[in-house]
Amino acid sequence: SSANAWLLGADQGGTVSKLTQAHASHKGSFGDVAVLGGESTATSHMAGAALLAARAALHAGAGRVYVALLGSPAVSVDLLQPELMFRNIAAVDLAHSVVVCGCGGGTLVAGVLPKVLQEAPRLLLDADALNAIAQDAAVQTLLTERHVRGWATVLTPHPLEAARLLGTSAASVQAQRLGSAQTLAERFACVVVLKGSGSIIAAPGLVPRINPTGNALLATAGTGDVLAGMVGAAIARGQSAHAAACSAVYAHGQVADVWAEQRGERALTASGMWG
Ligand code: AMP
Ligand code: MG
Repeated sequence: SSANAWLLGADQGGTVSKLTQAHASHKGSFGDVAVLGGESTATSHMAGAALLAARAALHAGAGRVYVALLGSPAVSVDLLQPELMFRNIAAVDLAHSVVVCGCGGGTLVAGVLPKVLQEAPRLLLDADALNAIAQDAAVQTLLTERHVRGWATVLTPHPLEAARLLGTSAASVQAQRLGSAQTLAERFACVVVLKGSGSIIAAPGLVPRINPTGNALLATAGTGDVLAGMVGAAIARGQSAHAAACSAVYAHGQVADVWAEQRGERALTASGMWG
C-alpha cells in the first residue's frame, strides 16, 4: 500500500523505528521539525506550501512539528491537521529542531535567513530560501561557514533554483545534472538534492547518486514541499543529512510509483501523498 512508502527502512542508517524502539520512547524521541515559510502579504498567500511540508513531516514520523509562517498569517491552526503547532518565528527553538526553511517563503524569507543559518545546526533550505541565497553573497558565506562547525545543511533545488545558485540556465543544469549537483554540493559544502526525473543526491567528496523512483505524476504543485518535510523528518528521526536525503527522495518517488500502479493516470495531489 502507499502507506508503506512512508516507512523509512531500518537499514537507512540511524532511523529511529517507532515499533522497535523501547516502550519508554515518547514524542521527544522522534525529533522536532520546524517549518519556516508560507509568506502572507497583501498580495501573496503561500501558507499552503508550509502546511504541506509540515503535514508531510508529521506523516513521515517526526515527533513534533512546528510551523512559523512569515508576514501576516491568516491562520494559526491547521484544522485538518491539528497536531501542527503554530509559533512566531522568535519562539521557534532553532537550536534543537530540524529547520525546514523556504517553502512558499516569498521575498520575506531573506529577512530570516541570516539568523536561521547561524542558529539552526540541522537545516534544509528549499524554494525561495535558495533564491534568496542566490542573490546575496554575504548569505552564501554564512552558508558555507556552517560546514566548519560540523552543521548539517540540505539544499533541495529544482533545476531553475539550481541554475540561479550556479549563475547559469536551467537548460545547462539539465544537460549536466550530475556535475551541476556535485558542483553545488562542493561550492556550498552541503548535501544537495537536484530534483526532477532521476533526482540527484550529492555531497562533498561523495559519488553522486541517482534516485530510481518517481514519475511525472509528481510534476504538480506542492510535491517539492512534501519532499522537504519528509527529508526534515528523516533527519529529526536520527539519520544523517545525506542518508535522510537519499531515503526520503526514494520514499517520495515510491509514493508516485505505487500511485501509478494502483490508480493509473488519476492525478496525484501533493496533499494526497500520505492518503
Ligand atoms: P518542486 O519542483 O519543488 O515543486 O518539486 C517537484 C518534485 O516532484 C520533486 O521532488 C521532483 O523530483 C518531482 N518531480 C517533478 N517532475 C518529475 C518527473 N517528471 N519525474 C520524477 N519526479 C518528478
Ligand atoms: Mg519547490
